[in-house]
Amino acid sequence: MALSRRQKIIELLINTERPLSVEEMSMMLHIDSSVIASDLPRIAEAMERKGYRFEIEPARCKKCGYVFEPSLHVPSKCPRCHSQWLEPPRFRLVKGKQVPEKD
Ligand SMILES: [Zn+2]
Repeated sequence: MALSRRQKIIELLINTERPLSVEEMSMMLHIDSSVIASDLPRIAEAMERKGYRFEIEPARCKKCGYVFEPSLHVPSKCPRCHSQWLEPPRFRLVKGKQVPEKD
């Protein structure tokens, strides 16, 4: 039986050696990047119950160096200099508990 779209994304994110951007996943799986972006929060929810969490390499502005908050959301514009020249966030799924967030 063929894997569902979301299962394919999950497999890729678990097996990848390094975090992947939505664009990279899109090219590897031949799935539209907007579809993958909208699947990520649902994948996070489902996989959390199985003991996985997202490791997120945050997006970065290539113009001013601003580093975004780690998020599943893919930003389109830098809040500091409004440039759209961004290094996209990259993701992968890792087994284990979430590291407690600092306040
Ligand atoms: Zn910037």
